[in-house]
Amino acid sequence: MTQAKPIIGVSACVIGHKVRFDSGHKRSAFVDDQLRQLVEFKPLCPEVNVGMTTPRPTIRLREVAGSIRLMDDKNHIDHTDAMNRYSDEVLPTLSELSGYVVCAKSPTCGMERVKILQEDCKGAQYKGRGVFTSALMRRYPLLPVEEDGRLNDLPIRENFVLRVLIYHQAKALLQKPSQRALLHFHQKHKLLLLAHNEPIYRQLGPLVATEFEGSDSDKALQYVTQMMAALAKPATRRGHTNVLQHIQGYFKKDLEPSEKQHLQDTILAYHSGQLPLMAPMTVVKHILSKYPKPYISDQSYLEPTPVQLALRCNL
Ligand code: SF4
Repeated sequence: MTQAKPIIGVSACVIGHKVRFDSGHKRSAFVDDQLRQLVEFKPLCPEVNVGMTTPRPTIRLREVAGSIRLMDDKNHIDHTDAMNRYSDEVLPTLSELSGYVVCAKSPTCGMERVKILQEDCKGAQYKGRGVFTSALMRRYPLLPVEEDGRLNDLPIRENFVLRVLIYHQAKALLQKPSQRALLHFHQKHKLLLLAHNEPIYRQLGPLVATEFEGSDSDKALQYVTQMMAALAKPATRRGHTNVLQHIQGYFKKDLEPSEKQHLQDTILAYHSGQLPLMAPMTVVKHILSKYPKPYISDQSYLEPTPVQLALRCNL
């Protein structure tokens, strides 16, 4: 059975809705054109949804009496309580989401390094998070969240799409947890985990295989929590090399000496930065077509994101 497309939340201005304070938008071509092919969007503009007009006065994060407030300084309006009430109302309705793209630098939607004006008006610190996005990330700690600007960084882009797709599958596992389903899930994603975080990969094998004090549901949640932590950062060149060498080991009895040498040289050239990841991956896929290994072919690692987005071409 084909799974439905993942649904992801998005700051409405990032897909071209003219909802910003200046009646403009902040359309991201990647999100609106490419990511749209893979997911369904749930666009939200929290500022418009709490009743702010478009256009509207600029609002900012400001430290007031030790707490961070969402302020319209020009009109002396504090929007914090309204935004918190809105978050409390809307967040419980977003449990279907498998990811969220937020608009960078916004005092409402920004994820990191949002400007906070200091209490004494003597300056600003760039260490805040938008009021809505803070509440979103507290409510859904496993949800992949990324900023539009950071998605211009190609490894971060690949990693975000990967996390959305894996989390989408993990949510299906969490809805119908069983030992069999968890084992199947783990088998499929083993090499992906190894590429991203070897220590967590080594913990998750025993977690899946051994008796667990608790329900299947508790076990699946513990597994998914650790898995999302493992995938939180892009895999490094070292991590990919480790997996490629691991895969190479599966073919040691099959390969001709020249094939073995070619695979080894391509992996080492990738490791030293002379070739992109696609080079050894292409050799591995060619070898797999000649010497089938179902365990390797079934690994999500071989094609974790759809080829039409070409996300691995720049790694
Ligand atoms: S950043 Fe968020 S609140 Fe601001 S316009 Fe975009 S969607 Fe609306």
